[in-house]
Amino acid sequence: MNLILMGLPGAGKGTQAEKIVEKYHIPHISTGDMFRAAIKNGTELGMKAKSFMDEGALVPDEVTVGIVRERLSEDDCKEGFLLDGFPRTPAQASALEEMLDDLGRRLDHVLYIKVPKDDLFKRLTGRWICPDCGAAYHEIYNPPKTEGKCDKDGSDLIQREDDKPETVDKRLEVNLEQAKPLVDFYEEKGYLRNVDGQQDIDQVFADVDSILQGDRT
Ligand code: ADP
Ligand code: ADP
Repeated sequence: MNLILMGLPGAGKGTQAEKIVEKYHIPHISTGDMFRAAIKNGTELGMKAKSFMDEGALVPDEVTVGIVRERLSEDDCKEGFLLDGFPRTPAQASALEEMLDDLGRRLDHVLYIKVPKDDLFKRLTGRWICPDCGAAYHEIYNPPKTEGKCDKDGSDLIQREDDKPETVDKRLEVNLEQAKPLVDFYEEKGYLRNVDGQQDIDQVFADVDSILQGDRT
């Protein structure tokens, strides 16, 4: 199953990706997670990405497309993949088309998780993540079992630099501007599946799952 998970920052892509991956056993490819890992490890890629991410801007297309191209050609993507947070610009979408053509693959669905902007602000500024496994929690909507600790590995949770209120506004603005042409592009191709992301986490997953189950009937 070849999937794209789309939605504005805070829509719940990472949260749903975790559930999809657990059930469908396809690799989760999150460009944001890849950049954060590169920054943490002090690699050249991390240095290129950091200044853009810190100010809530997009990392340049050529950098982002390069890491996705490499990742999709790895063996574990042969049976399918879940792209999260990529593509985010029309240029990235065209590059992805080319990559898939080269690999002889096609998309199954583009899941677009929709949440109103006011809710996104609250979700992002209350988000806490695990720096080791990337799991996302929310201080009110999805708290960890023990305050400040990851349910999965017990690591101390942290807040992302770019989840500060002043950066969040910029990120939402940048991403809103880019989203519309992309949504139209996938709608025209017949891949777009809208998901109501304003419901609770399990209900959103139930809707996602019924779209994915539809493939098997
Ligand atoms: P969110 O959880 O807010 O959707 P991500 O973790 O996906 O954010 O991305 C965090 C940051 O990483 C973005 O603000 C951007 O700077 C960079 N980034 C992630 N994916 C892309 C992409 N496809 N193109 C450009 N920049 C990206
Ligand atoms: P994205 O990857 O799209 O940026 P996340 O999955 O990290 O989004 O979710 C953003 C924040 O909102 C996190 O704090 C998460 O716990 C919370 N969240 C995710 N889905 C929901 C939901 N359906 N209802 C309420 N809060 C949610």
